[in-house]
Order: sequence, then structure tokens, then C-alpha cells
Amino acid sequence: MDCVRSAVRGGSKATCLYRRGREEMPANDIEIEEALHEGVRFEYLTTPVRIEKDGGTLKLTLVKMELGEPDASGRRSPKPIAGSEYSVSATAVIGAIGQRVLPEPANELGLELTRNGVILTDPQTFQTKRAGIFACGDCQTGADIAVRAVGNGRRTAVAVDQYLRDEELIGEPVLFNSRMGPLDTVSEELFKDAKRQERITMPAISDNERLTTEKEVETGFVPAAARKEAERCLECGCDAVKACKLREYATKYGADQNYFGPPVEADSQRAYQADYTHPKIKMQTGKCINCAACVRACAEVKGLNVLGLVNRGFATRMLVPFGESLAGTQCDGCGECTRVCPTAGIREKKSPLPA
Ligand code: SF4
Ligand code: SF4
Repeated sequence: MDCVRSAVRGGSKATCLYRRGREEMPANDIEIEEALHEGVRFEYLTTPVRIEKDGGTLKLTLVKMELGEPDASGRRSPKPIAGSEYSVSATAVIGAIGQRVLPEPANELGLELTRNGVILTDPQTFQTKRAGIFACGDCQTGADIAVRAVGNGRRTAVAVDQYLRDEELIGEPVLFNSRMGPLDTVSEELFKDAKRQERITMPAISDNERLTTEKEVETGFVPAAARKEAERCLECGCDAVKACKLREYATKYGADQNYFGPPVEADSQRAYQADYTHPKIKMQTGKCINCAACVRACAEVKGLNVLGLVNRGFATRMLVPFGESLAGTQCDGCGECTRVCPTAGIREKKSPLPA
């Protein structure tokens, strides 16, 4: 996509040939859309089989393809259609059929490569098979997004530091992490009070202007639009991620959040539950460890009994008794309970963004 979109900016009429269909293209859909906007032509189910010089131009022989059964990558394999050859002419042909790591520098250092041709490292420390040589980034993962390379760079730096200090080489410690789960497994009930707001379209320069400039296509949000976009956030992240005692101790003692057997199904986890009904307080009991500190704070400091421990044994939960929601109680949002919670089981809601 970078090649065809840059070719258009260089004044060319660019055509992208692809041997599968649009559905199978590994390119980001938004990039394909933008390329179409900018006038790039796409010829799907087409593959070049020959390139020849033809006077001052190039003659490409193409063949049409049809999709067969899915291959190892899960995408349907393209097969040539007999007798479908045709030719087109072009002034330049750019082969853009993937990226690979140049093996020579790794070979010179005697580093082992994987079957995919990237440098083999320990997944936790990023140390290669040669002690004291570390590798991260695309040469270790293959072509990937920049943010992954940056993250792995930080992890590698931790391991390099351990190596240089002659400490045990363990890399960045793996912290206990408890997640709500993928969005499609979380009950919609949790977000039933959230207002559905459509995404705001990112403003962009005109199609004509794109053809004469290398400027960023997207111009960014004005502050009011950025604020409106931020307000769509469901705040599903953890408010105590840096200061959670549950995380600290679970990491220290190697805790596993899966149940270990009856009376609850083994290997199952406690379902994520939350109560976002109160204007000032949110209860995320999926992160609660039943310490009852909030129950006591409400009773002893505030003199109310808004919260309680409900049920027994593994089924015990810190909840508003009798199945009520927090908004239906005497809770005035004083926040006493939130100040003693060692996890993010109960927290004050963040203030709305300033206008
Ligand atoms: S915010 Fe105050 S009143 Fe509400 S549950 Fe917590 S301690 Fe009780
Ligand atoms: S203080 Fe936090 S962790 Fe303890 S019972 Fe209350 S919500 Fe759960």
C-alpha cells in the first residue's frame, strides 16, 4: 500500500495486482480504502507470470486466479485459471510481496535464525544463542508494528541491565494480570447504561491535495472533537494497575486465578461483574478480593451499611445486599470505601474532562 500510494503521489497511474481477492488482502482495510480514494486501481485475483522489455516500456504477462481451499495461513489458496493469460504494459514494476530480515549481519555474528529467517532469542530475555548478544524488533519478530518493537526494546533493556550487573538473567518479571476478557465474552449488561456514540470521522486533506503532497493524510481532531471521542471510553481499564496489592501479592506468591475444583468448576474463573450505576462510585467486583475493608469503612466511618459480603465460600462477593444497585442506596459518594480498597474493586469515577 505504501508503494502504490507513493507512486500516485509521484504522478503515476498506479495499479496494484493481487493474486487473491480484497477479503484476503493482509493490508489494513483503511489503507486499501485510502488508496482507492487516491485513485489507485486494484486488480484482484491476478498474478504476474512474466515481465519483458518492450521497447521503452515493460510488458507484464498476467494470469487470472481463482480461490481454492484455505492454506496453512487460513486464507484460500489462489490457483491459476488455464488459458486466462493477458498482458499489460507498465513503465515500472515494484515487487512488494513482503519483507524479510537480511541474514548476513546475524550470520557474521554466528546467531541462530528461526525457520522464518528471524533471529532466535529467548522469549523472556531476548538473549540470542550467543551469551551477551540480544536481539529485538523486526529482526526478531519479523515485520511487525512499531509499538511492539518499542515494548520489546524496553524488555530487552531490563535483561541487558541484569546481564551487565551480573544478576540472574530473567528479563522483565511477568506480573500477575487478571483481565475482564475479550469484549465479545463480556456481558452487554455491564455497559447497558453507557450511551452509544458513533466514532467521529477523522478529518483528512482532500483527495486532490493528496496527489501533490507527502503530508499526513489525516489532519487530527480539534480539541472539542478529541474530547468527544475520549468521552466514548468505557473506562474498562484498571484504576489500580500501578498500585494493586492483589497484583503485587499474586505475583509474589504465583497465584492462579482459576478455581482449583469443586464446588466450582475447575479451571473456571470468577465472572466479571460491575456496577456503574452510581454517578460518583464504580464497583468492579471482578477485581475484589473480599477483604471487606470497604464494608467496614462504610459502616464504621460513614455509619452506613451500603455494602456487604453476600453468599458463602467461593461464591462470596462484596455487593450491595438484596441485589440492589449502588445508585438505589443511601451512598452519597463520599469515597471512604475507595480509599481503603487495596485493588480497584471499588473506585471513584473519574471527573468528566474539563471543557
Ligand atoms: S462512597 Fe461512602 S457512602 Fe458510598 S459505599 Fe463508599 S463509604 Fe459508603
Ligand atoms: S475493599 Fe476492595 S477488595 Fe476489599 S472487599 Fe471492598 S472492593 Fe473488595
